[in-house]
Amino acid sequence: MRSHYCGEITETLADQTVTFCGWVHRRRDHGGVIFLDVRDREGLVQTVFDPDTVEAFNTANGVRSEYVVQITGLVRLRPQGATNDNMTTGKIEILGKEITVLNKAATPPFPLDDYSPVGEDVRLKYRYMDLRRDEMQRNLRFRHKVSTQVRNYLDQNGFLDLETPILTRATPEGARDYLVPSRTHQGSFFALPQSPQLFKQLLMVSGFDRYYQIAKCFRDEDLRADRQPEFTQIDIEASFITEEQIMSITENMIKEIFKDQMNVDLGEIPHMPYAEAMNRFGSDKPDLRIDMELVDIADLLQDIEFKVFAGPAKDPKGRVAALKVPGGAKLSRKDIDAYTKYVSIYGAKGLAWIKVNELEKGVEGLQSPIIKFIGEENTLKIMERLGVENGDIVFFGADKAKIVNEAIGALRIKLGIDLELLTKEWAPLWVVDFPMFEELDGGGLTAIHHPFTAPACSPEELKANPATALSQAYDLVLNGCELGGGSLRIHDQAMQKTVFEILNISEEEQQEKFGFLLDALQFGAPPHGGLAFGLDRLIMLMVGADSIREVIAFPKTQSAGCVMTDAPGLVTTKQLREVGVQLRVQEKDKAE
Ligand code: ASP
Repeated sequence: MRSHYCGEITETLADQTVTFCGWVHRRRDHGGVIFLDVRDREGLVQTVFDPDTVEAFNTANGVRSEYVVQITGLVRLRPQGATNDNMTTGKIEILGKEITVLNKAATPPFPLDDYSPVGEDVRLKYRYMDLRRDEMQRNLRFRHKVSTQVRNYLDQNGFLDLETPILTRATPEGARDYLVPSRTHQGSFFALPQSPQLFKQLLMVSGFDRYYQIAKCFRDEDLRADRQPEFTQIDIEASFITEEQIMSITENMIKEIFKDQMNVDLGEIPHMPYAEAMNRFGSDKPDLRIDMELVDIADLLQDIEFKVFAGPAKDPKGRVAALKVPGGAKLSRKDIDAYTKYVSIYGAKGLAWIKVNELEKGVEGLQSPIIKFIGEENTLKIMERLGVENGDIVFFGADKAKIVNEAIGALRIKLGIDLELLTKEWAPLWVVDFPMFEELDGGGLTAIHHPFTAPACSPEELKANPATALSQAYDLVLNGCELGGGSLRIHDQAMQKTVFEILNISEEEQQEKFGFLLDALQFGAPPHGGLAFGLDRLIMLMVGADSIREVIAFPKTQSAGCVMTDAPGLVTTKQLREVGVQLRVQEKDKAE
């Protein structure tokens, strides 16, 4: 139907006749001449119809925004002064000879020829229109380029692209499962995979040695910011490989992608133990673009009367930390109140502060409501430990370590962004030496990664000190975002059973849920490990979008629904009966 894409028609085609198809981006009537900007995947081209070509002129006169047209015309150079250097096709225009309307279009729900603010729900309802916008076209094409590079890189490194089932059993990654009722096994349910974890391990048992998949994962999580119930992972697994090797192969992949797609050199990626990351940054995914760090001061405050600080300072599970913010003394009372409110989201009960106005004057030169509680001597010692300078502000967190880490860790990032304290554009790091488990609020332990992660010790040692045992897991973090993570896996049945026991999974439940894995581990499972990167998040960071929804063609809303297809939807009683399901709220079923 066409000889060229619109965006490909340049001055090299001058005086030639071309045929192109696309959407009417803009129509202008310039005193008897009709201008149509026609758009396709590759760009825009300007077309002029003059009244001499009567039939074409009349048709062009009648088209509206987003009509689908086929045009044949002559390429001619634009007159001097009428060129547009921002467009590939900006030096030419088409003198339209023939135009066919291939399809009409109703008035678009939002203009596509100019930026106009549109609510996200409208964009998502008419996503196919939203995706016509230049920005969305660019994002999704960029995504394609990255996933193609991923495939090429992994193929060149001997990884096989193998598919794993979507209808399966639960694969725990810490979220709720999406369930699918079975018609042929009534009363039983499939779970959609939270990740291909167990299948990729089984592919290692089968001897495929190196596997990858750009895999859809499904997690029914509570509404947390910027999560999607279905998302895409670059899922990788390899046999006979060390932690260092798998990190280096995957790190090179990410570096090559940044280099080739954006000409960004990520440089050497540092490794940081989990404990250090928590200590210095209050987070296991520290944003190293910001130089500020949390500094422990509990040792100085254990013996003061002021319980708000002394309590956590004495509590083995407590933490008292200070954060020095360069230039922060300029913050107003109102700003500080807003930050106090911000940390309260993370459970902090308040936000103490000291402004450093004139350090040379000692305590006199400091401004703060808390000095009288912590004492002048302690205050000066803290100032010295932090190395403060005039114009700084120091914020304090004192509570359970978890709360302090989360609250002051988040404050660190917020202040870093608000006060423009980012020191570089890209800050990747590997976080290593994760603990195996963390304590659940109500007691008991849960796996920090997943229960198939190999510990860095023997089953006996693990049993003796589960709460302090480390794992052979690693996460790649970029600008405070977890890009991906993985581990060496347990390939020994006894070790796997030990981990299940520590997680309080009974022998019976082990057999019921993971019997196939325990069986497989008896038949010569090789040492293996892997990792998965979040593709959506990677693309989001690379294109600078502020949500993964901007890089997914058809994302769900924050409440895990699709406003375009209206999914999830009601089903008929007949369908329910077929799968042996009865709704508890029958009146909801209006669909029969
Ligand atoms: N299955 C893990 C996840 O989805 C990644 C891995 O351990 O390879 O987070």
